[in-house]
Amino acid sequence: MPLADMLIKKGVLKNKRLIEAFSIVDRKNFVPENLKEFAYIDEPLPIGKGQTISQPWTVAFMLELLDPKQGENIMEIGYGSGWQTALLASVGANVYAIELVPELCKFGKENFEKFSGSLGNSVPKLGQVYFYCQDGSLGLPKVVERIGGFDKIIVAASGKELPITWKEQLKIGGKIVAPIGHPARPAGGSIFEFIKKLDGKWEEIEHPGFAFVPLVSN
Ligand code: SAH
Repeated sequence: MPLADMLIKKGVLKNKRLIEAFSIVDRKNFVPENLKEFAYIDEPLPIGKGQTISQPWTVAFMLELLDPKQGENIMEIGYGSGWQTALLASVGANVYAIELVPELCKFGKENFEKFSGSLGNSVPKLGQVYFYCQDGSLGLPKVVERIGGFDKIIVAASGKELPITWKEQLKIGGKIVAPIGHPARPAGGSIFEFIKKLDGKWEEIEHPGFAFVPLVSN
């Protein structure tokens, strides 16, 4: 069964734009050569350097919360395989994708370039994608100076708390979707939605019961 259909059946994938994105982007092109046969199974898979391409259910869940739209500027922390980057770009969002591990920087960027190069004219235009090979916990201050803040931020590795830089680099009304580790159980944790309100206050919504690879800081 195609991945999009499986995720719809499981009740996690609902948004029309995301359903289309999951249909356009083939996960097979984002997993290592020796694991291609497992690409459509709902499991995370190793991509080297102790990292994983995230589980399809979790990616769909986080993207549903993020609700990316055409033309939005979205910062993605921990792009890894580049799969989620491709999903975001397929919705038409401009993606500022950051990855820390040099080998994965290359892997994800190449996967994405192959994907974008193979698209025919029948699919909608991809958003712009910019890749950065550096520590994502610092965000992208120079980009923020130019564009005036991100509309949304999505994070694939869990820290103990949300770096202040991400909060500062988000526009008012914007949203961050990020896993935060449980202090007592570093591998466990919750996915949080952090919404920056007009009055400068933050609305937080917690979705418990997830495990992520840790956010590494230099
Ligand atoms: N969305 C990716 C998930 C990869 S796992 C995919 O589905 O392929 C999380 C990624 O976060 C890993 O590749 C890891 O190297 C990266 N990461 C961890 N700490 C980071 C940091 N401080 N800055 C940028 N990337 C980081």
